[in-house]
Amino acid sequence: MGYVTRIVIIGGGPGGYEAALVAAQLGAEVTVVDCDGLGGASVLTDCVPSKTLIATAEVMTTFDSSYEELGIIVADDTPPLERSARVVGVDLGKVNRRVKRLALAQSHDITAAVTRAGARVMRGRGRLDGCQTAADGSRCVVVEAADGTTERLTADAVLVATGARPRELEDALPDGERILNWTQVYDLDELPEELIVVGSGVTGAEFAGAYQALGSTVTLVSSRDRVLPGEDPDAAAVLEDVFRRRGMNVMARSRAQSVKRIGDRVEVALADGRVITGTHCLMAVGAIPNTSGMGLEESGVKLTDSGHIWTDKVSRTSAPGVYAAGDVTGIFALASVAAMQGRIAMYHFLGDAVAPLNLKTVSSNVFTDPEIATVGYTQADVDNKRIVANVVKLPLLRNPRAKMQGIRDGFVKLFCRPGTGIVVGGVVVAPKASELIHPISIAVDNNLTVEQIANAFTVYPSLSGSVAEVARQLHTRKTAEADQG
Ligand SMILES: Cc1cc2nc3c(=O)[nH]c(=O)nc-3n(C[C@H](O)[C@H](O)[C@H](O)COP(=O)(O)OP(=O)(O)OC[C@H]3O[C@@H](n4cnc5c(N)ncnc54)[C@H](O)[C@@H]3O)c2cc1C
Repeated sequence: MGYVTRIVIIGGGPGGYEAALVAAQLGAEVTVVDCDGLGGASVLTDCVPSKTLIATAEVMTTFDSSYEELGIIVADDTPPLERSARVVGVDLGKVNRRVKRLALAQSHDITAAVTRAGARVMRGRGRLDGCQTAADGSRCVVVEAADGTTERLTADAVLVATGARPRELEDALPDGERILNWTQVYDLDELPEELIVVGSGVTGAEFAGAYQALGSTVTLVSSRDRVLPGEDPDAAAVLEDVFRRRGMNVMARSRAQSVKRIGDRVEVALADGRVITGTHCLMAVGAIPNTSGMGLEESGVKLTDSGHIWTDKVSRTSAPGVYAAGDVTGIFALASVAAMQGRIAMYHFLGDAVAPLNLKTVSSNVFTDPEIATVGYTQADVDNKRIVANVVKLPLLRNPRAKMQGIRDGFVKLFCRPGTGIVVGGVVVAPKASELIHPISIAVDNNLTVEQIANAFTVYPSLSGSVAEVARQLHTRKTAEADQG
């Protein structure tokens, strides 16, 4: 029998399990070690649970806007219904039970798929042995099971994909009941009456919007000038406007310093001396990588100043035979990127064809209402002259389907190179923008031109008609520029 390459993967989130599937398919002997369950934080506490909760929130938003825009009456009362007279409500206990059931089921499905592919799954905490690389270049991973027993595994290559966990502030530690991080909200049986969300990045904005839709009175505390400081500024402005219009208290330039529980209430002290109170507080102030106690630096794995594992474009760390993928690398906190990094690591180590990670084609979405989907180069890239591009933004208000559906907020924005018209990026702000971004994604990935997008048929009436219309406007502008030039 020939030599079989041994791969050990520490961490079973998208970075880890996708790598395991690829490596097993390529014929390696694969072991995946995870302390919480396959699917990782992505499936068990982060991505999947939050999007399942948001699915309920979306239906509530539809009900809330159904009278004003579509003339639907959901009660005998004389419309328009006050928020307090709402007849559609949410049983949060039931919603959260569904969330957990779905997350567990998905974790089981992933475990079954990885096992079927031929990989071994171990429940436990893994760490690199820390000792020097053995003479044959192999490494040792020590796995400690929950019952305290340990097992040593020899690996030709190790992939570290241990993810990240919520950052905690010393003076705002979660108690799991009133002061919560995003992994703890699914234990609530009743809707928070007055929820204070600290942090207005993607996670903070998604939860603030969702709980507002579910019926909580929400205050969003943002240390920056506007919500979603890392996103397209026009998109963030639309969302902030929608949040305020729906009654959310958005507090800009307000840094939370401490959060205290006082009986059944919470008190959030801001840096400028103001104090706000509510029934619950959700902390969404970023994540820190899971790197401690893993023997990384002892094994020659270099960490960056932010504490993440340094990797190159094929997921190699600074230690031979050790790769890293996902949130622990701090490259892009997205499940899709983690999975890609994990696959690239395995293709590279196992000698398959591999393309280095290209972040300029990544598409991502903020699951608020409206959603904000982006791909490729951004407005900030254009403004900071990292790329020269023409930009056109078209409000959805002009789209016939949007008018029929009562959609007032949102836009489509495209970026293309001035000479060639090649599409290099786009932003869609709309309901289900996560679905509408795909044609732009395909264009960015394949260097398609605005003319090619404009010439493809779209259904009439459809929101995707706006994607073609923006492309048409950019094409016309490009042609006019060429005529003048
Ligand atoms: C609230 C929220 C919502 C999100 N929504 C989205 C979304 O909609 N779309 C999207 O693309 N991304 C989303 N993300 C980001 C996404 O969840 C992460 O990018 C993704 O989970 C990263 O995957 P990973 O493989 O790096 O690690 P993780 O999914 O974090 O998995 C790591 C696993 O390793 C385990 N582990 C840690 N240390 C050890 C050890 N020493 N030994 C064994 N096991 C260990 C952990 O317990 C965990 O199970 C969201 C994040 C948050 C916080």
